[in-house]
Amino acid sequence: MNLEEKIRTIKDFPKEGIEFKDITTLLKDPEAYQATIQKFVERYQDQEIDVVVGIEARGFLVGAPLALELGKSFVPARKEGKLPAEVVRAEYDLEYGSNILEIHKDALEEGQKVLIIDDLLATGGTVKATADLIQEIGGEIVELAFLLELGFLGGRDQLVDYDIYSIIIED
Ligand code: AMP
Repeated sequence: MNLEEKIRTIKDFPKEGIEFKDITTLLKDPEAYQATIQKFVERYQDQEIDVVVGIEARGFLVGAPLALELGKSFVPARKEGKLPAEVVRAEYDLEYGSNILEIHKDALEEGQKVLIIDDLLATGGTVKATADLIQEIGGEIVELAFLLELGFLGGRDQLVDYDIYSIIIED
């Protein structure tokens, strides 16, 4: 199945000059959504992973079903002020604006193997901040996974320390 054609592009959202990749058109197609999760399952079912970390909000939509399929833990990385227990936090720049992400300090145990997942890799700031948080609380990052990577934004350049897997790469 061609998953790329299931993702809609909206020009100038949320700001002029941004081409927003809208995955709601993929999510509402059950076969496309299942095929997406299945792709990730095939890649990770034989790898040593303890925890899938999904990045708010669209990373939850791929991370939670993947964690369930793999039979592994799911941990959310959330925007500021959403998590109720003690957190570690990181501030970072976005393709549009800046943001703060938090994760519970007790979200994982020292040495656990972590897969970080989000819908999209743009400049890499979001996933880099998440990776920093995971390392701060003792996790070992196995890989960073995305449904779609905007290759022309060079996100990989600040992620040279990590293995990266993207189902679709747009150059
Ligand atoms: P970045 O930190 O620049 O890699 O941005 C990645 C995060 O911002 C992901 O959580 C994406 O969901 C969102 N994002 C950034 N750019 C876009 C875009 N052009 N279309 C859709 N989502 C985007």
